[in-house]
Amino acid sequence: MSDFDYDLIVIGAGSGGTRTARISASYGAKTLVIEGDRAGGTCVLRGCVPKKLLVYASQFSEQVSDAEGFGWQIDNFTSNWNDLIIKKNKELDRLHEIYVKLIKNSGCELITGWGKIVGPNTVSITKSNNEIIELSSKKIMIAVGGESSFPSFDGNHLMINSDKALDLSELPKSIVIYGSGYIAVEFAGIFNGFGVDTHLVFRADMALRGFDKDIRQFLMTSMKQKGITIHNEVTISKIEKNNINYSVKLSNGKKIEVETVMGATGRLPNVLNLGLNEVGVKTGSRGEIIVNKYSQTNIKSIFAIGDVTDKITLTPVAIAEGHSFADREFGGSKRFISYENVPSAVFSQPSIAVVGLSLDEAKNNGINAKEYKSEFRALKNTISGNLERTLMKLVVNEQTQKVIGAHMIGPDSAEIIQGIAIAIKAGALKSDFDNTVGIHPSSAEEFVTMRS
Ligand code: NDP
Repeated sequence: MSDFDYDLIVIGAGSGGTRTARISASYGAKTLVIEGDRAGGTCVLRGCVPKKLLVYASQFSEQVSDAEGFGWQIDNFTSNWNDLIIKKNKELDRLHEIYVKLIKNSGCELITGWGKIVGPNTVSITKSNNEIIELSSKKIMIAVGGESSFPSFDGNHLMINSDKALDLSELPKSIVIYGSGYIAVEFAGIFNGFGVDTHLVFRADMALRGFDKDIRQFLMTSMKQKGITIHNEVTISKIEKNNINYSVKLSNGKKIEVETVMGATGRLPNVLNLGLNEVGVKTGSRGEIIVNKYSQTNIKSIFAIGDVTDKITLTPVAIAEGHSFADREFGGSKRFISYENVPSAVFSQPSIAVVGLSLDEAKNNGINAKEYKSEFRALKNTISGNLERTLMKLVVNEQTQKVIGAHMIGPDSAEIIQGIAIAIKAGALKSDFDNTVGIHPSSAEEFVTMRS
């Protein structure tokens, strides 16, 4: 007989928490999952999945224009936003049900309610009917993700966040999006694709701080070419509501009148009301839960994975952390995940995907590196008349000749870079790329034909 009700209680049924629970249960751990909202989490219900569906939907305007370049005649091409949102929500309902089944069919229990840690081995759960129960567990996993955060200025509460932007009942005629990270540029592409007068406001000189500078420059040019109005090197000083519109005052004195203002100025770990201070779990300056390589907090029985630890805030990383935790704690494995060469994509338009280091990052790490570049207009865009171009880059360590970075902006970048990431992870040399026969005609073949 165990001293505890469970071997593992997982707080949060997002992608990371669900994987942790399922794999732990597969090793025989008696596992409970607690979720206050719907099972599925940010990525499935309020992030990656609905966002990508809207990205697909928004791209049809450009695809129709491309089709006309190829001789198709298209009359009366209009979109129905409301219908799209209903269909998108139906798909999310389906995915939510799949998550519930995944959790239950793997032998875990699922309780709907808000979890709070009240002791090193005890969690209290407030259910929707306000009933509070307390349950004990040998181990507790916190997988509660993050939530959007806005800088403070007059009227910041008038901004919607990405959760709301994904669920607007009506498409606005005009929008200001504040920020220039992943979420901001992705939503700018979505709204612009639907013909919304889109303004992107941000404080940096170029969008996507931290990415390769040529890729950033290329994105700026492409976004402007597609009709997005860029207001860089400014901040929002005030937002006022007048009748149905919002007046957005910028730090350079300019005012923009729009129907909707969206804030995409970063996300913070979702640690409020988790009881961390009371129990003594250490957090960092952004509220992130500090963990060691075992995903373990300073309290030995309490663990955390995913966005709440603010390491690499990407769904596949949270899933990998949760899976390896389960393997180690319940499966007898000594496996750890590697945080090196984690690929990622930004579903801006055009999309961006990267793996490994940029030339600047390599230099900053003391690596003598060389860059190979290819910029071209894809075959499809010759007849379509679409001005969009593609940029690809490889970064090679001059000493070892290993490819240490690949960067792409252009159609299908995520699909292409995923394969390149395997080669880089496997330690491929530039000569391995050179010795690989290209697939012709494709954009991807440029990665194996780049010469200095
Ligand atoms: P990011 O961290 O990517 O970007 C935040 C943006 O907000 C930056 O432009 C930043 O400016 C700006 N900002 C931050 N603080 C302020 C401030 N005080 N005043 C003005 N501007 C400010 O956050 P996102 O919210 O876009 O995304 C959160 C995370 O979610 C991402 O980092 C990513 O890990 C994940 N994500 C991944 C996606 C994917 O894989 N495709 C898609 C969406 C999200 P500056 O650059 O000047 O610092």
